[in-house]
Amino acid sequence: MALIKKNIWAAFYLTATIWLVFFGAATFVSYQTVYEEYTSEQKRLMALTANSIQSILRQYEVLLDLVAKEVIAYGNLADKETIQNVMDSVVEVDNSMLGVGLFLPHGDVYVASSGVKLPPSFNILSQPENRESFQQTLESNKMVLGRTYQSDVLNSVVFPLRKSVVDQDGNVLFVLSTVINIPKGFRFFFEGESNQNNSNLYLYRDSDRYFQIVLSHHEIDSNIYRYQIPQATFDQAFRKLEKKKGLSIKDIKTNELEVITTSVQPGQTSQAVSRYLPKYDLWAELKLNNRHVMSLFLKELQVLIGIFSGSLLLIYLLFRGIATNEKRIKNALEHQANHDYLTTLNNRFYLDQQLSLMKTDSLYYLIFIDLDNFKAINDGYGHEVGDKVLRLVARRLQSLVNPDDVLVRYSGDEFIIVVFNQDENNINLFCKAIQNDLALPAQIGDYRFVLSASIGIAAFPEDGQDLDELKRYADLAMYEAKKTRNTITFFREDFKQAYQYRAQMEQELKKALLQNEIYMMYQPQIRRDGSSFGVEALVRWENKLLGFVPPDKFIAVAESCGLMLPIGEFIIDQTFTDMTEVQKETGLPVTVSINISVRQFQHNEFFDRLIELMEKHSFIHVELVLEVTENLFIDDVIGIQNLMKKIREKGIRISLDDFGTGYSSLNLLNQLPIDELKIDKSFVDDITTNSNTLAMVEGIIAIARRLNITTVVEGVETDEQRQILADLQCDIFQGYHFSKPLKIDDLKAFMTSNTHLLQGDNNASS
Ligand code: C2E
Ligand code: MG
Ligand code: MG
Repeated sequence: MALIKKNIWAAFYLTATIWLVFFGAATFVSYQTVYEEYTSEQKRLMALTANSIQSILRQYEVLLDLVAKEVIAYGNLADKETIQNVMDSVVEVDNSMLGVGLFLPHGDVYVASSGVKLPPSFNILSQPENRESFQQTLESNKMVLGRTYQSDVLNSVVFPLRKSVVDQDGNVLFVLSTVINIPKGFRFFFEGESNQNNSNLYLYRDSDRYFQIVLSHHEIDSNIYRYQIPQATFDQAFRKLEKKKGLSIKDIKTNELEVITTSVQPGQTSQAVSRYLPKYDLWAELKLNNRHVMSLFLKELQVLIGIFSGSLLLIYLLFRGIATNEKRIKNALEHQANHDYLTTLNNRFYLDQQLSLMKTDSLYYLIFIDLDNFKAINDGYGHEVGDKVLRLVARRLQSLVNPDDVLVRYSGDEFIIVVFNQDENNINLFCKAIQNDLALPAQIGDYRFVLSASIGIAAFPEDGQDLDELKRYADLAMYEAKKTRNTITFFREDFKQAYQYRAQMEQELKKALLQNEIYMMYQPQIRRDGSSFGVEALVRWENKLLGFVPPDKFIAVAESCGLMLPIGEFIIDQTFTDMTEVQKETGLPVTVSINISVRQFQHNEFFDRLIELMEKHSFIHVELVLEVTENLFIDDVIGIQNLMKKIREKGIRISLDDFGTGYSSLNLLNQLPIDELKIDKSFVDDITTNSNTLAMVEGIIAIARRLNITTVVEGVETDEQRQILADLQCDIFQGYHFSKPLKIDDLKAFMTSNTHLLQGDNNASS
């Protein structure tokens, strides 16, 4: 069954075989029917024939009786001439009678019809073929059939019929004998219904098994009448019937049955219909014509073959239809499985398939392409536009690849191209061409985009041994390229270590919270006037295996592997706990800034969880600031703005961290609901040496002041820096110059002891 399901043709062959068996059975039944019909037809013919034969013989008997009566009527054999006249008139009436003779009981001929020339002293007993039957006639009062023989006198095959005529005392007066010309006498056989059938009729004598009458459409060898059917042949003819059907010869004779026997005729054995004619002690046999049966059967067979081959053809067409359809579906499914519905490019399954088929000696480069900022297009313009952009990119890439190369849409906005037998230089040129092509303005409806992509490349077999490895490495290279965007990066070994380190970090990070490896430190923030303003909460991770991992490193990992939410919650919860404690112990009002990563901020549960945690700690005297980076606004400015409004309504302030490192635009400040601006350390670093930087910082602070935004500088390490920034009217200061990040106890001590920081007295603890 499984085979049939797998292969429709197996099902067809099975059906055809079953059909063939049916055909065989139908053929057999058809032959049987034809044979039965033919034999019953022959039996019917035999019945008719037997009746005809008997009635003809009866006619002859009547004629002989008629002659006898006439002879007797004319007196006691007196007038030979008169008798001859009677005889002649009978012969004249029935020309099948070759002649009539009157014989005296001792065999001498008395008188014969004029056509018969017998020697005057002819004695019938002198003829061996007549002797026995003549004697029988003397003893019988019925007409006796003499053996059929070749008569020299009449120069013909003759069939003698004799009847004795007795006086009142039963003494034989004379014997009337006639000889019949068989074809003439039994003409009926060649006419009418029997003539249509090519049967031969053989009548033979039960008493001595000599043939009496043979009626054939072909010429008969007269020697047949000299042939005596062997007893064994006769017995064999009926033996089978007795065995099979329990019919004895006696039954057949008495019931005058038409039965199928083996033929007793000389020559090839075959089947025949036999019937006994009791009155004349004759057996009649109609040999069955096998050829005729066969030709009837062949006619039927033709019809059968027609039906069979026709229906088989139909079945074949049906199966072929199913097979074609199945193939079509299979192809469609295969196409579906291997193609990306959106771009109609091949998909990742196709890539896996192709590369698994590939010979290991072919050299190829796997190019991993990831569109830059595609999410922004999707979110900003809707998925429909996003889809159109992807289709356009697919078309552009397709126009660049060779037919031998493999181009697939790997997922989302990621495409992979596998290029064979090229050197690194050409691949680089090819990737540049891709970048140039993508950079051409893309008009989608009313919008016009300029696209770019980050491209990572890995080479086989140089970089990796299998597809998975290569994809990973090309992805790593792409990841590297993403840092600067619109960049082409070839894979390098050190990416692998970075990758492994990252993978290990991921593993360890999963257990970090449970193992209490994560804790908080707080870096003080000081007002321009030297008074304590607050702290920035900074997370720390100390791992047994990896040692101290800087937060900016592991935060990115936590974000990418979905651990940011629990870690973020821990940070907030722990900071609240610590700050409540600090506030209680020092009695000083504390402002705490907590860094919120982009993913954390965008998480739809973030706001609710934050409020829950605030309520849990029933914050009163601690002011909360959330630090977010500019990256947050890349994707969805509107959504973020709304969330920020909600946050500010709760009395929480928002600080824009690392200002100046991203794509900072002063314009953004105008649009965003922010309370605080943190000028990045990189500005502070060269503020003393670079007048441009100084001018920029001056400008930033001036604008912020005008927008009523508090300015914070981070990374203040020297008093010189502090002085310049104070002169520029920066509001809040943070840096090693004041204090490194502190553990909670150190923070408490710092806060209570610190008063004169702005006077340049650096007593920062570490
Ligand atoms: P950030 O928010 O800009 O934090 C300031 C970083 O500058 C801190 O590094 C701090 O230790 C360092 N710093 C402060 N003053 C000085 C200085 O005078 N000289 C020098 N060389 N460095 C100074 P840290 O703690 O390693 O944090 C790095 C970054 O990690 C942070 O930058 C922040 O983006 C992220 N981060 C730290 N803690 C958290 C956190 O709790 N949540 C989230 N989401 N991110 C955090
Ligand atoms: Mg920060
Ligand atoms: Mg910062």
